[in-house]
Amino acid sequence: MHRHYRRLLAAAGAAVAVTVAAPLAFAAPQNGAAGGEGDQAVAAASEAELAATRPAFKMPFLCGQQWLGSNWNGHSPAHSIDWNHYDSNGNPDDRGRRVFASAGGTVLESHYSTTTGYGNTVVIGHGNGWQTRYAHLKTRGVQKGDKVKVGARIGQVGATSAKYTLSPHLHYEQIHNGRTVVAVVQGVTWHDFTKRNQTSKNRCG
Ligand SMILES: [Zn+2]
Repeated sequence: MHRHYRRLLAAAGAAVAVTVAAPLAFAAPQNGAAGGEGDQAVAAASEAELAATRPAFKMPFLCGQQWLGSNWNGHSPAHSIDWNHYDSNGNPDDRGRRVFASAGGTVLESHYSTTTGYGNTVVIGHGNGWQTRYAHLKTRGVQKGDKVKVGARIGQVGATSAKYTLSPHLHYEQIHNGRTVVAVVQGVTWHDFTKRNQTSKNRCG
């Protein structure tokens, strides 16, 4: 029952988030184009182009922890992954678990968003147009401008959102040139719409 309840909460949050989160994700790289239509005409990078520059992203959790990820249909932005953790009895115990950088880089955002559903959110820039976003955090442990290495602690899992009532989970995005793309985590491609367990290899020493 708990899982159904959680999923419904997440779905409700994301359904509304379509109108708020998606424009943010796609509005980033304007490049000063005057026409407006030119922005939308920028083609998404091909899988091969993405693979050529994509950092070796690790799961944003402690080494050995197994999390259930889902990039369910209707999630916004598309391709985002919601991560949940359960105890040995199958009960959710996400809240407060530590979140670590998927790859090294520079913190581009660390704030509580009052204009989106992201709540406490951190965005890390990794170079070559790549970013990762971590949302609904209970706490944030980094500030804009901080340099972080892969595995750096950046916050804790929570359920914060200015717009939605959520159950605790980590909302995670891999972004390329402002577009949230199909994530590749530890070499595993998260094609739409996947739900699977994955074990973190981050901070394994
Ligand atoms: Zn989400």
